[in-house]
Amino acid sequence: MERTNRLQDIRTLSRDELNDVVAELGQPAFRAKQLAEWLFAKNVSSFDEMTNVPKKLRDQLAERFCFNVPTEVAKQVSRDGSRKYLLEFSDGTSVETVGMPSRNKLSVCVSTQAGCAMGCAFCATGFNGLSRSLTAREIVDQVIHVANDFDERVTSVVFMGQGEPFANFDETVKALRILNDPDGMAIGARHLTVSTCGVIPGIRRFAELPEQFTLAISLHSAIQSTRNKLMPGIKKYTLPRLHEAIQQYVEKTGRRPSYEYAMIDGINDTNPEMEALISFCEGTLCHVNLIQLNDTPGSLMKPSPMKKVESLQKRLSIHGVETTIRNSRGNDIDAACGQLKQKHVNL
Ligand code: SAH
Ligand code: SF4
Repeated sequence: MERTNRLQDIRTLSRDELNDVVAELGQPAFRAKQLAEWLFAKNVSSFDEMTNVPKKLRDQLAERFCFNVPTEVAKQVSRDGSRKYLLEFSDGTSVETVGMPSRNKLSVCVSTQAGCAMGCAFCATGFNGLSRSLTAREIVDQVIHVANDFDERVTSVVFMGQGEPFANFDETVKALRILNDPDGMAIGARHLTVSTCGVIPGIRRFAELPEQFTLAISLHSAIQSTRNKLMPGIKKYTLPRLHEAIQQYVEKTGRRPSYEYAMIDGINDTNPEMEALISFCEGTLCHVNLIQLNDTPGSLMKPSPMKKVESLQKRLSIHGVETTIRNSRGNDIDAACGQLKQKHVNL
C-alpha cells in the first residue's frame, strides 16, 4: 500500500486558505463555506462524500490535496462497551485511542505523543520512550475515528492516552481549539480535559488560556521520594513547586483541578502516603480520582486491594476533599495506556 502522500492534507488549511483555494479555482465564495462544513463539521474523509460540491471542483481539489487519515491497525471491544484502537499515521507511527460510551454520552481518550519520555514506572507507554509528538490534526483525527466507528457525537475528550500533553503544548492547545470550535465538533471546553504528570511551565501556560478547559494532574504520591521513584521524568518539578503552581492556576481560573492517584499495593497506599495526600489536598479546590493500578504485564507493581481504596476515599472525605473512585474502563482489553501497542510490537 502507498503509505506516503506528497499532496497536502486539505484539512490542514485554515478557513482563509480554503477561501483562497476556492477563489484561485474561479469558484464562488459560498463553495468555501460548503467545503469547510464537510471538512470540519461533518468530518468527511474523501472528496466524494461532498455531495453538494460539483464533481469538477471535487476532481480539481483531489489533484492538489488529500485526506491523510489514520489507518486502524487493531481494535479491541470490551465487555463494558469501550473500544480501544491502535491507529497508524502515514509515516508508520502508531498510537492508542479509546472510545468509552455511557448512556447517551461518548467519551474519547486521545494520545498526544507516540510513546512518552517521562518513563513512569507503572506506565506501559513509558517503557519504550518517546517516538515523536503528534500534530494537532493527528490528535483530532483520533476523535473523528471514534465518532465514525460509533456513529455518534463525541461529548467529551480526555487527553489521557499515550504521551505527555504539556511536552507537546502548542499542538495540544491547537487540537483543543479545533475540538471546541462551535462550527466544528463543538465539544464544550469543560468537557475537554488535559492530564499532565506535572510539567509546571505547561500548567502556567494552561492557566493563561481564555477557554475553560479542564486540568487533571497525575499525582500518584504526595511524598517526594516515592514520587521520584514512580515518576522519574518529572523529578525536577518538586511537590512544593507543583502545589504552588496549582494554587496559582486555581486563583487565576477559579476552576477545580483533579488529581489522578493510581493506588499501588504497598507503595502509595500506606498510612504515611495517605496522610501526605490528605495534607497536599486539604483546604484547596481539587477533586481526587482514585483508581486501582492497572496491572501491566511484566511489572512488579500490583493494584491496591479495594478496601484500601475505599478507606482512602473515606479519609479524604472526612477532611473535606472531594473524591471519586474510578473504575478502570475496559480493563479486559489491555486498556491501560500502552498495553495494546506493546502487544502489537511484541507480536
Ligand atoms: N502523561 C499524562 C497523560 C497520559 S497518562 C499523565 O501522566 O498525566 C494518563 C493517566 O493514566 C495518568 O494519570 C497516568 O498516570 C495513568 N496511568 C498510566 N499507567 C497506569 C496504570 N498502569 N494504572 C493506572 N493508571 C495509569
Ligand atoms: Fe508518560 Fe503519563 Fe505514562 Fe508517565 S504516566 S510515562 S507521563 S504517559
